[in-house]
Amino acid sequence: MERPADDVMVLYLKLPANERLQFLAGQYIDILMKEGKRRSFSMANPPHDDECLQLHVRNIVGGAFTDYVFNKMKEREILRFEGPLGTFFLREDSDKPIIFVASGTGFAPIKGIIEHAFYKESRREMIMYWGARKLSDLYMLQLPQQWQQEHDNFKFIPVLSEALPEDRWQGRSGLVHQAVMDDFADLSGFQVYACGAPVMVEAARRDFAATRNLSLEEFYSDSFTFSNDPKSA
Ligand SMILES: Cc1cc2nc3c(=O)[nH]c(=O)nc-3n(C[C@H](O)[C@H](O)[C@H](O)COP(=O)(O)OP(=O)(O)OC[C@H]3O[C@@H](n4cnc5c(N)ncnc54)[C@H](O)[C@@H]3O)c2cc1C
Repeated sequence: MERPADDVMVLYLKLPANERLQFLAGQYIDILMKEGKRRSFSMANPPHDDECLQLHVRNIVGGAFTDYVFNKMKEREILRFEGPLGTFFLREDSDKPIIFVASGTGFAPIKGIIEHAFYKESRREMIMYWGARKLSDLYMLQLPQQWQQEHDNFKFIPVLSEALPEDRWQGRSGLVHQAVMDDFADLSGFQVYACGAPVMVEAARRDFAATRNLSLEEFYSDSFTFSNDPKSA
């Protein structure tokens, strides 16, 4: 367990000896809680780096699982999960340039996808926008900054919507999907991968298609909706 920000916990899950999980970068798992509750979390590690599964868990006030993680969980506890799940993975049969749009812990699966693309030595142009309210919410800021230094086909644009005075923020401000629209008049030649808050993912889908000519077939997303517990749970 590592806590890179007040409300973000990074969990490293070790699989039982001799077991491996075959998955695509960007997919998620469902943690199985007692009483049939399931909670979805994206894998932030790429498949080639699978010694541990890495999850980035944002604390949700009143949330059954995340409250447990932040207040009760101890290292070496045993969790049950199901996976891999989901279709948020890199379409490798395309050579279109990619725009990644993440909000908050939506960075997790995008991290997995980008590290996979680097590992595969993809030459596709990649631009990652990572939005949050304040600077400390960009809980792994140095990592994409390092990617940008090491890979000439990767560009990183952090965007803050409510920077604090002590952040002394000189970078981009406003909503993260709006920053993409400010930079691109036409997205018809791009693939877009968006992940995080449902309101951001929905705005990106709607506005990129309606005003920037993005084909919806080239829009891939995972929306971090709250869980939907079964009635009996
Ligand atoms: C595909 C997918 C991938 C995801 N990946 C990630 C990830 O990598 N990282 C991440 O941080 N999140 C991720 N999420 C989001 C995460 O699964 C949810 O935030 C999850 O609900 C958190 O679980 P929890 O038990 O802490 O909160 P929950 O118990 O689900 O509660 C969530 C919210 O609902 C409220 N609530 C709960 N029950 C009720 C009720 N009966 N009536 C009214 N309000 C209620 C709570 O107060 C709280 O505000 C992902 C979601 C999906 C669908």
